[in-house]
Amino acid sequence: MSVLRLAIPSPLRRQFDYLPPAGMSEAEARSLQPGVRLRVPFGRREVTGYLLAVCDQSDVPDSSLKAALALLDTTPLVDPQLLQLAQWAARYYHHPVGEVYSTLFPKRLREGKPQLPGGTPGWQLTTRGKGLPAEALPRAQRQAQALGLLREHGQVTGAELKAQGISASVLRNLQDKRLIEPLAISDHLHTATSNPGLPLNDEQATALQSLLAAGDGFSCHLLEGVTGSGKTEIYLQLIADCLQRGHQALVLVPEIGLTPQTLARFQQRFEAKISVLHSGLSDAQRYLAWEAARSGAAQIVIGTRSAVFTPLARPGLLIVDEEHDGSYKQQDGFRYSARDVAVKRAQLHDCPILLGSATPSLESIQNVEAGRYQHQQLTQRAGSGGMPSIQTLDVRKQSLQAGLSDALVRAMEETLAAGQQVLLFLNRRGYAPTLQCHDCGWIAECRACDARLTVHRRQRRLRCHHCGATSALPRQCPQCHSERLLASGLGTEQTEDFLRARFQQWPIHRVDSDSMQSKGAMQALADEINRGQPCILLGTQMLTKGHHFPAVSLVAVIDADALLFSADFRGEERMAQLLTQVAGRAGRADIAGSVLLQTHYPDHPALLAMLGSSYGEQARGMLRQRQESGLPPAGQLVLMRTDCPNAEYGEQFLQTLRERSTPHLPAGARLIGPLPSPMQRRAGKYRCQLLLTAPDRRSAQAAAGVLVANAETLSTRQGLNWSIDIDPQDVF
Ligand code: ADP
Ligand code: ZN
Ligand code: ZN
Repeated sequence: MSVLRLAIPSPLRRQFDYLPPAGMSEAEARSLQPGVRLRVPFGRREVTGYLLAVCDQSDVPDSSLKAALALLDTTPLVDPQLLQLAQWAARYYHHPVGEVYSTLFPKRLREGKPQLPGGTPGWQLTTRGKGLPAEALPRAQRQAQALGLLREHGQVTGAELKAQGISASVLRNLQDKRLIEPLAISDHLHTATSNPGLPLNDEQATALQSLLAAGDGFSCHLLEGVTGSGKTEIYLQLIADCLQRGHQALVLVPEIGLTPQTLARFQQRFEAKISVLHSGLSDAQRYLAWEAARSGAAQIVIGTRSAVFTPLARPGLLIVDEEHDGSYKQQDGFRYSARDVAVKRAQLHDCPILLGSATPSLESIQNVEAGRYQHQQLTQRAGSGGMPSIQTLDVRKQSLQAGLSDALVRAMEETLAAGQQVLLFLNRRGYAPTLQCHDCGWIAECRACDARLTVHRRQRRLRCHHCGATSALPRQCPQCHSERLLASGLGTEQTEDFLRARFQQWPIHRVDSDSMQSKGAMQALADEINRGQPCILLGTQMLTKGHHFPAVSLVAVIDADALLFSADFRGEERMAQLLTQVAGRAGRADIAGSVLLQTHYPDHPALLAMLGSSYGEQARGMLRQRQESGLPPAGQLVLMRTDCPNAEYGEQFLQTLRERSTPHLPAGARLIGPLPSPMQRRAGKYRCQLLLTAPDRRSAQAAAGVLVANAETLSTRQGLNWSIDIDPQDVF
């Protein structure tokens, strides 16, 4: 008798066997295809499971096998390669396969609801609406207009009606009168066309030719091109070729909401349906975008991290822009790297993949050196702008106002007076990172974390940037009741206040996650900045991601020292990437740019390296060091973490795990710890970690398997959670 082996979303790392639903014939059960959804009883609940295989027998005794309740799909909704990818990812990241499967599906399908007809949401007249005389509703002008449009065109998309000035409430009124009804207008699979691209320079042309010459089977390419060298132009022309061959292109980007300009460039270049997938979508919007990709109606799919799991009807090309970006690694739950998953996916689809960056990760550079990736380089800016000159600004003994030295203020004045824009980088939002009592020394700390609270003066609140806790800004010290509370240290709000007083005649734009909360704020700002009028931009890391600000000619890093001393082994790599990316915002059009780094350590080797060599040279130097020390990408890391309201349980758990696992580890694998995490307490939980180092991927995988298998057999004390992180981003 057939047994259905399912993936069920649950923290248990195993598969679950069920009997076919009542009434299903043996032949029917045999013919079920992997990937179809079934509704099954699970504990006291009913859940959606995904078929992995139909088997002859189960390890579970027949008497305790339950029957599935219903088959939800006749054919699988996603392609077999994507199912294979999910299984690979579950194995590689040692994550429960059911949870990985459920990331493939939008909410509606995870909930077991039927698939909706694909298409764009729109409206049509009901029979009653069709019978209405044209001159009806004389006093409801908008309603009459809507009826007229629908009478004329039959079916009209919601977006089009909105563009004609017809609001949702007008449509609701008509629907209440049962004159119109919603429908999904099918997306015709029309062929995409591309508008002509820019004539390429020699370097671009060489890169594009090599990419095209690699053919349409699997090959992985690193496009290493300095900021503004025309990488995006190459993506566009490569996509044009992919569309022409009738395939779909999937493009991953670190951020969409913040880079409306990139999206606009894609929309201008192609007459094609582009599906955009990011975390800001409603469930219904996400479903439509997913369905358009799945059905093939969308020729181009652009999305952030999780879009790597979007089903595609005709995959032909994968692109990962800014492949070094940390946001590609999910930091909780299913801790995958979208870049690495994308490379695996391209292999399964047998199609090319392009990783692009001005500051490639050491992982990708090593893969180039090992001959696994092909390498394309762009060493010059594509437009007229040259590379900016970088200088340190020694601020020792200088007076600083809101972090700015006199020399920097003068440079800003000159830039603005010349009609150009200034960009200031300060990676700390809020007003000040510390609130301290001047009389007794009390410092405002988070109750749930080992961290200080940040002063946010605009909102008159203290906020914890680690757990999100907030409280009113106190007027008095809770310890000695003094009112002399000092906000010390520097944040963007404080520098903004100073700039407003000092540069009154110029517009000042603060760009951080506080000021950019509203939808469209970044788009509005980008439009404003691209008008090219002199202004000052002050922002956090958010400003460095892929923006084009052609009129910015001076970039200054207010506190380069904050980047210099990181305990993490990737600290230096991250600093070089960040500084290179920040610097890359300067002088992108016809104005030469300059970059100033304010520091108390002008002789620090990392800063000297920034001035004396390119990112590419620095990165290759760092790679040599990693090879000597056996750290990634030369060696492999796996991190077991625990969190628990009790301070001791985690360490005890990891200690036992270590003792049980050590005898079974493959040669070369080593365990370090358990040790408390760098920020031991966060959001009320104590965190502890056990680090595994291994010389290569194979032994790291084997060792991770040993750890997980043992961890699953250990009983966990109350409130203790453990997780495993393969290729972790942050270790110390
Ligand atoms: P990147 O993605 O490497 O930062 P972009 O593709 O965005 O670079 O190009 C940077 C700027 O140079 C853009 O304004 C773009 O329009 C322009 N550009 C790119 N390629 C060319 C070219 N071949 N000729 C002229 N301008 C170009
Ligand atoms: Zn006090
Ligand atoms: Zn906190």
